[in-house]
Formats: sequence, structure tokens, C-alpha cells
Amino acid sequence: MILHLYSPRACPGCGAENRDGSFCPGCAPEPLRSEGRCSRCFGKLESYTCGFCDERNVLFDRHISTFGLNAECKRVLQNWKFENERNSYQWFRPYLEHRLAELLSEEDIIQETGYLIYVGSGRSARNIRNYQPVADMGRQLATDQLPLKRMLQKKGKGKQSGFGRHDRFFQVKDSIQLTVEYRPAFYYVLLEDVFTTGATALEASRILKRESQARVFVLSLFMAD
Ligand SMILES: [Zn+2]
Ligand SMILES: [Zn+2]
Repeated sequence: MILHLYSPRACPGCGAENRDGSFCPGCAPEPLRSEGRCSRCFGKLESYTCGFCDERNVLFDRHISTFGLNAECKRVLQNWKFENERNSYQWFRPYLEHRLAELLSEEDIIQETGYLIYVGSGRSARNIRNYQPVADMGRQLATDQLPLKRMLQKKGKGKQSGFGRHDRFFQVKDSIQLTVEYRPAFYYVLLEDVFTTGATALEASRILKRESQARVFVLSLFMAD
């Protein structure tokens, strides 16, 4: 009997087995382009105005995302968040690093004090997995100039998933709080695995802006739109 020395994984596009679950060259998704998107929230522009920004008091200074959520990306996200495939996002990582570098240089803040931050999950998420996807990703993106902090956390009352998209949006308000890792800074980069309604990013920004005038940028790996 031949033992597998590695667990065989498969391309999320075509299902062909490979070592690390990465995409074959022909199956690889295209990164999102900023053309035709809002310069603030990164949402698709229908005309010259942005529906998202028009309807809300958008408190973050800018959001930039990396990939959309086609069927293949959804599968990766599902495996990563719910199937204990802790490394399934690795294929996307260089693209995310590139977006972060782009953001810092475009905003001209490389010399300033900033933190890479994320929202720690509440108690209920710990039953699903023993790692937090966004924290893993943050540890790999962090640098000496941009240290990672779990600066915010979910307050941990109830689950989000039982509610519809609309309810979820309003439920997020007052569901996040600052942690002891909070530090004042010139800017924050809030890292998210997936930007869906934008509610978490808005609420996190509201809390941070209540403390200081810091600029808040949001960087997400996937964006549902
Ligand atoms: Zn493939
Ligand atoms: Zn917008």
C-alpha cells in the first residue's frame, strides 16, 4: 500500500488534484479592477454616483478589495472558513500583498504610524474552527511598520447568519467594541476576509473615528457584489 505523504488537494476551478489546492493557470480568477468602481467604497458604479455611499454615512476613507466572489472563489472561502482548510487562501495572498502596498503608496502614508487591524470573532465562532482566517492572513501581511493588532472584537451576542442581508446590516451596530490592543495612530488598515454588506467596516470605522481623527482604510480579500 502506498501512503500519501501529503494530502492531495484540488484546483477549486476544475477539480484536478494537486499538492496545495491552488488554481491551474487556466482556472485562475482575475483580480478585481478599480475601473468603474467607486473611489471610496470600491462598489460598482451604476452611473456617475455610488448607491452605497449615497445612502450611508460612509466613515471609512477608502475600501479596496482583491477578488470578486465567483463560484470558485466562493468555494475557497467556504473551505477556508468552514471546512478547516486553513491554508486555502494562500494562492490569493500575493495579490492581497500587492493591494496593500498599492494602498499605502497611493495614500502616501508609508512613513506614518499605522496598524493593520482586524475584528476578533466572538465566542460562537470558536465552535466552528480553532483559527481565525483573518488573523492568519493578518500575521502574514504585517510588517514592522504596520504591526497587526486585534483592536476590535465582536461583542458576541447571538449569531449573524440566521438573519437576512438587510437585518444583518442593522444588527452590526453596537455589536463591536475596542479591545485592550487599541492604540492611537495616524491610520488603520482594517483587514477583512470578505466584504459583504460593508456593515462591519462601517461600524468599526465609527468606533475608531469616535476615538480619534485617524484615517481608516479597509482592505478585503473577497468582495461580494
Ligand atoms: Zn483547474
Ligand atoms: Zn461608494
